[in-house]
Amino acid sequence: MAAYEWIDHTFDVVVVGAGGSGLRAALGAAQAGLKTACISKVFPTRSHTVAAQGGISASLGNMGEDDWRWHMFDTVKGSDWLGDQDSIEYLCRNAPAAVYELEHWGVPFSRTEEGKIYQRAFGGMTKNFGEGGPVQRTCAAADRTGHAILHTLYGQSLRHSTEFFIEYFALDLIMDEEGACRGVTAWKLDDGTLHRFRAQKVILATGGYGRAYFSATSAHTCTGDGNAMVLRAGLPLQDMEFVQFHPTGIYGAGCLITEGARGEGGYLTNSEGERFMERYAPSAKDLASRDVVSRSMTIEIREGRGVGANKDHIHLHLDHLDPAILHQRLPGISESARIFAGVDVTKEPIPVLPTVHYNMGGIPTNFHGEVLTKVGGDPDHVVPGLMAVGEAACVSVHGANRLGSNSLIDLVVFGRAAGLRCQETVEAGATQRELTAKDGELSTARLDQYRNANGSTPTAHMRLAMQRAMQENCAVFRTQDVMEEGVERIATVYGNISDVKVTDRSMIWNTDLMETLEFDNLISQAAVTVNGAVNRKESRGAHAREDFPDRDDAEWMKHTLAWFDLDTGKVNIDYRPVHEYTLSNDIEYIKPKARVY
Ligand SMILES: Cc1cc2nc3c(=O)[nH]c(=O)nc-3n(C[C@H](O)[C@H](O)[C@H](O)COP(=O)(O)OP(=O)(O)OC[C@H]3O[C@@H](n4cnc5c(N)ncnc54)[C@H](O)[C@@H]3O)c2cc1C
Repeated sequence: MAAYEWIDHTFDVVVVGAGGSGLRAALGAAQAGLKTACISKVFPTRSHTVAAQGGISASLGNMGEDDWRWHMFDTVKGSDWLGDQDSIEYLCRNAPAAVYELEHWGVPFSRTEEGKIYQRAFGGMTKNFGEGGPVQRTCAAADRTGHAILHTLYGQSLRHSTEFFIEYFALDLIMDEEGACRGVTAWKLDDGTLHRFRAQKVILATGGYGRAYFSATSAHTCTGDGNAMVLRAGLPLQDMEFVQFHPTGIYGAGCLITEGARGEGGYLTNSEGERFMERYAPSAKDLASRDVVSRSMTIEIREGRGVGANKDHIHLHLDHLDPAILHQRLPGISESARIFAGVDVTKEPIPVLPTVHYNMGGIPTNFHGEVLTKVGGDPDHVVPGLMAVGEAACVSVHGANRLGSNSLIDLVVFGRAAGLRCQETVEAGATQRELTAKDGELSTARLDQYRNANGSTPTAHMRLAMQRAMQENCAVFRTQDVMEEGVERIATVYGNISDVKVTDRSMIWNTDLMETLEFDNLISQAAVTVNGAVNRKESRGAHAREDFPDRDDAEWMKHTLAWFDLDTGKVNIDYRPVHEYTLSNDIEYIKPKARVY
C-alpha cells in the first residue's frame, strides 16, 4: 500500500453534511460557543435540500384553524404507527417556532394578503384528528422552498463562525475500542490530501441514498455515505425497507413535480380520462398520502389503464388552473415540465410515474439526535460521540411513510435539537484523546484498494446492476419471490466487487474513485434494504406486500435493526420496540387503527 499522510484537526463538534439538517446543527453548536466544523462533499448550497419544492409543515394556522396535536395525529397515521410518538410530539410541537426562526433569519416565504406566511394543502395533512378535511399547513416559498431555506441557513452559519471544509469527501468514522466515536476521516478532493478530524461529537447529516435505485428524484450525490460509515463501524441501520416513492416524478427523467401541484388543485387521470383517485381514496382523493397514491397509479397501469404509447404512465393535470396562479405559485415545476417533458402545463397534462424520493430508514437516534444501538437487553443504548440528523437519521418520526413537507421541518427541528444537545453535553475545548497511527488505517486501506482496483467491470456497470435490481425487485409492490430474487441479485453484485475497475490512479479530482467509494457505500445499503424488506412479513406504509396485504401490529409493530457483515455481505436482523408513549400529558398516545384516507 502506498504511504498516506494525515493532516490532523481538532474541533469540539464536527458535522458531516451541509444540507438543511447539517447547517442547522452546525449553527446551533457554533452559537453555543463550541468550535465547530462542517464538512461537505459539494458546495453547501448544492446539497439536495436545495431541490425541495413544495414546502415545510408547521401548524401556524395562517389559513384557518390548526393545532400541533392535529399535525401529530396526521404524522402518526402517515407513519402507519411505526413512528416513535415521543419524537413525533417533539417535532410537531416545536415546528411553528422553527419556522418563525427561519422567517426571522430571512427565508423569503410566500405571503398571504395580510402578509402572513402562505400555507398550502399537502397530502395527509388534516384538521381535527383526521375528521375535519384537509388543512393548509405547508409553508412555502413558491415552489423553491428548499432553495430559500438552504441559502438562508448557509448565510447564518457563516455569521456564527462555523468553519467550512468544502469539497472534502468524508471516508469513515474513527471509532475507539470502547465503541465510542472519536472523529472522522476525509479526502480533500481538489488537492488529494487526507485529513483526520478529531471531535467530541461527530454529527452525520449526509442525507438519503435514493441513488441505490434506477429512477430517483434525488441528486446523484444522494448515496447515503454516512449510513454506510455507520454500517462499516459495526452499527445497525433502522427500518431501511421503507422507501418512499413520490407519485409524480416526470416520466423518463425522474425529476420531481411537487405534491404542491396537487395541493394547488392538480389531479391525476388514467387513459380513460378518469380521475381514478376518487375510487381509491374517496375523501382525500389526489391528496391521499404518497404510498396510497403511488400504489393506486401502479394498479391503474398494471390493469391496462396507463397513458402513452406503452400505457406505462399517468397524466397530471394543471391545465384547468389559472395561469396566473401557476406562474406565481408553481414557476419552478412549470419550467421543469417544459424542459424535461416538453409540456406547457397551462395547456397539456404532465406525464408522471412513481419515482424513489425519500428514505424513511436510516441511522437510529433519539429525539436529541444521539445515535442508538442495541446492546444486550437495552434497545436504546447511546453510542458515545456519535449523532445523526436529517434524512440520514431515523428518529423515527416518519415511521413507515413520510408525509410531504415533514422532512424539511424534521431537518430544522432536529438539527436544532442536536445543537442544543451539544451545548448540554460538550465542554468547549475539553482535552481529547490523542489520535494514534491506527486511527484512520481502515480508511486508507479502503481508499488504496479502490484507487488501485484493476478488475474488469467499470463502476458504472456495477452500479447499474444494483440500481436495476432495486428498481425491479424492491419497489412499490413486493412479494416473497420477487424480493428473494432481489436479495440474490444484490449479493451477486456485492460478491463481484473485487472485480471493479478504476482507471484513474491520481488523488486529485479523481471522480472515478469517488464514484467507486459512493457505489461501495450504496451497495451495503441496498443489501440491508432488500433483506429488511423480505424479512418483514406484513404491509405497512411504503412497504406493500401482495402476499401479506395487511398490517400486523401484534407481530410487526417494531423497528427493524440491520447490521451488515462486510466480509460475507450477510445482513443480520434484530428489532427495537416502537415508543408507544408521548413526551408530555398534553396529548395521549394515539392508538393504532386502520389507515384510510
Ligand atoms: C426533488 C426533491 C424535492 C423535495 N421536496 C421536499 C419538500 O418540498 N418538503 C419536504 O419536507 N421535503 C422535501 N424533500 C425531501 C428533503 O428535501 C430531503 O429529505 C432533505 O432536504 C435532506 O436534507 P439533509 O440535510 O438530510 O441532506 P442533504 O440536503 O441531502 O445534504 C447532504 C449533505 O451531506 C454531504 N455529504 C454527503 N456525503 C458526504 C461525504 N461522504 N463527505 C462529505 N459530505 C457528504 C453533502 O455534501 C450535503 O451537504 C424533497 C426531496 C427531493 C429529492
